[in-house]
Amino acid sequence: MSSSGAPFLHGTPAEYNYKSAPQAALDNREVPNYGGKLLSGSSGVNYGLWTRGHSSDYDAWAKHVGDERRSYANLLKYFKKTENYQCSNVGSEVHGVDEPISVIHGTKEYPLRMEILNALQQRGLSQARRNQRRPV
Ligand SMILES: Cc1cc2nc3c(=O)[nH]c(=O)nc-3n(C[C@H](O)[C@H](O)[C@H](O)COP(=O)(O)OP(=O)(O)OC[C@H]3O[C@@H](n4cnc5c(N)ncnc54)[C@H](O)[C@@H]3O)c2cc1C
Repeated sequence: MSSSGAPFLHGTPAEYNYKSAPQAALDNREVPNYGGKLLSGSSGVNYGLWTRGHSSDYDAWAKHVGDERRSYANLLKYFKKTENYQCSNVGSEVHGVDEPISVIHGTKEYPLRMEILNALQQRGLSQARRNQRRPV
């Protein structure tokens, strides 16, 4: 399913259509908890965003299980082995460029995109390069 089509599957038999218990902090609203009930599972209803986790998470998991192979530095070669990363500002030390899954940066220009990025920078958040050690 494409990222644009996936939202149309919410509430259909292609999903489990679970809901949370009423959330007191959300005016007792029940929050949808989506999950795919079809061949390919939730991958068939997801939005297709390509996001690596934060490196500190992988490093913490490696420490937790006592296995350095799970650290970000050691997993990087596997991330790269999946990608055909098609963005000009990308270094091959960080991304794969000849592998099976094509990845592009979003092309849609939302009206508030630059304003939000500028506001975040003014608050001291750097505009991290996407899908690297610190994805946000
Ligand atoms: C709406 C939505 C958007 C998402 N967007 C993104 C995104 O943009 N980028 C991203 O990286 N990730 C995204 N995800 C997360 C990603 O899709 C999931 O993490 C991933 O698909 C999980 O894979 P899985 O194989 O662990 O589980 P699943 O893909 O959920 O597979 C579990 C399978 O088991 C089946 N199953 C469950 N119980 C039983 C049972 N009792 N008997 C038989 N079969 C059973 C289910 O039907 C399903 O087919 C999104 C998820 C959702 C729901």
